[in-house]
Amino acid sequence: MLDACYNPSAVQAAVDLANTLKPVKGEDELETVEQLRDFLDEHSPAEPADHGAGRRWRLTRADLAEVRALRETVRAVLERANTDAVEAAALINDGLRRSRATPALRHDHDRWRIEITSDTDRCWTHLAATTLSALASVIATLGPARLGVCAGPACRATFVDLSRNGSKQYCTRTCAHRASVTAYRSRQSAR
Ligand SMILES: [Zn+2]
Repeated sequence: MLDACYNPSAVQAAVDLANTLKPVKGEDELETVEQLRDFLDEHSPAEPADHGAGRRWRLTRADLAEVRALRETVRAVLERANTDAVEAAALINDGLRRSRATPALRHDHDRWRIEITSDTDRCWTHLAATTLSALASVIATLGPARLGVCAGPACRATFVDLSRNGSKQYCTRTCAHRASVTAYRSRQSAR
């Protein structure tokens, strides 16, 4: 049972933000203002909801730097929650406080839900309020072990496991398949 703040698209936004950095390949998909624009276009909950449809951030290099700093926090939460939930919680709480995250009750599609937004006009604070509250919601309802890092040695992408049994080890089926092929080959060559 997920709580009233749970928002699957915000959970996905947190994971996708962390995974714009690919530490094994050394690739970074958040190096320009245009890339930040693309990320926000694909993750609508990060845009201010109550300023009317069609509003978009006027993004600058300062926004990019702030969102990149937020990415470090989100990635650290996803990497550490499993082994040090207290540290992950401290990172979340600090980020929510600094972003001035505020709950608001909204009514849409015939139901009420609680949305966590920021009352500032900075891009990063909205993204922080959305993504950190989503991760907080998963930890509070399913436990910190649901946040993790792909076991694929050439991957290290982060994930949130929303499956029924919570036994996810790999970010995608592709990574799980690759790992099983590698394990099979090493068994074969050991013979
Ligand atoms: Zn992976």
